[in-house]
Amino acid sequence: MEGVTGQVMFDSHVAVLLEQAVSLVNALTDGEARGRPYATPDAADLPEVIDAAVGRFAASLPRDIDAAQADYMVGTARRMREVFRAMQDGEPDVAARAVNALLRDTAARPRLDRAAGGGWQVHFHGPDDSFAAGCGAGCATALALAVGGGLAGRLGVCRADRCDRVYVDTSRNAARQYCSTACQNRTKAAAFRARNA
Ligand SMILES: [Zn+2]
Repeated sequence: MEGVTGQVMFDSHVAVLLEQAVSLVNALTDGEARGRPYATPDAADLPEVIDAAVGRFAASLPRDIDAAQADYMVGTARRMREVFRAMQDGEPDVAARAVNALLRDTAARPRLDRAAGGGWQVHFHGPDDSFAAGCGAGCATALALAVGGGLAGRLGVCRADRCDRVYVDTSRNAARQYCSTACQNRTKAAAFRARNA
């Protein structure tokens, strides 16, 4: 996360949750990643993959990720991908319906929790305190705040050839087009080869 620019646009907690949503979508949905086919990991590997995907962003979440919770997160990730895709394709109504369905199904609700450094911070909880419920509710709420807050154009799907990984654009000029510098460089190199062919 490019901290300073991200915090200008999104509340920092929401920015963290959006990065978590990106990380989960990219780890848990089939498609293509940086020029290669990508398949959702096998069930046996899912808890570890999910833990790694949210690890940087959710130090405080409980990590009791069992098979049922892993399965739930894969389903949630697929539905979150639909929000990114719809915004990329200029279908905000589709994105809004997908977000509303996620909010409903995750039963997301705000709550003030004691912040690590003292004071209070708004967190988004699910119906219980399990990892999957909390994580799903947090991601759904962050997507709602992005789509409803006029920043929906910041949700993107990589435009590089053979890649469909998603991203949140925190650049100052909202000009990001790729999931990663790897895809940006790949695209530049391909254009260079095409010009010189
Ligand atoms: Zn990409």
